[in-house]
Amino acid sequence: MDDLISRQKVIDTVEKIKIIAENELHDNEVLKTFNDVLNSLINIINLLPSTQSEPKRGKWIEAESQCGIKCSKCGYPVDDFCHSIDYIDLDYAPNYCPNCGRDMREE
Ligand SMILES: [Zn+2]
Repeated sequence: MDDLISRQKVIDTVEKIKIIAENELHDNEVLKTFNDVLNSLINIINLLPSTQSEPKRGKWIEAESQCGIKCSKCGYPVDDFCHSIDYIDLDYAPNYCPNCGRDMREE
């Protein structure tokens, strides 16, 4: 799997290279060509498709209240969750925490 890096950090790095080039390249034609290449590179970087990182996961756990469950990460409660008395059926629990958005499905 590819790793994920920040688009903005890559662009910032290219911008730093431009500053170094301005200090080191004393031929204006060469500097202009080099800057044109780096500007094209920045345009290409901006056109690269983004990807979503893995969704953060959590799980439903029993809440203190009877017939309730809560998010294991943020504690958001979902009450009235008994299928019958004292039986919590997680098959009917929401797939995502409505508060923090964690994916609550089993991996
Ligand atoms: Zn949550």
